[in-house]
Amino acid sequence: MGVRSNGFSKLLKIKRSDFISIVHPIAAEYESFCMVKDRALFSNDVQPLHLNCSACNENSHDETYCPVTHFTARKDKIIGKGHISFPIEERN
Ligand SMILES: [Zn+2]
Repeated sequence: MGVRSNGFSKLLKIKRSDFISIVHPIAAEYESFCMVKDRALFSNDVQPLHLNCSACNENSHDETYCPVTHFTARKDKIIGKGHISFPIEERN
């Protein structure tokens, strides 16, 4: 679809957040809700939720990712020192 102006045109530019708050205040709240939700889901950043981990009381993660209650092996250390072994099939 094309648009052609018959004369001089004026353009107005506003910020997306301003547009949303003008269009609908509930939409602005929904937008910020989605941002917080996406940060928690994709970056494991739960700080905007102001929740503290119930295991160690830090606010940078929740219990699911708590380093105190979950052992996380450092792959670089394990692979670098050749600690990974694969089962060897024995042939009869
Ligand atoms: Zn924790």
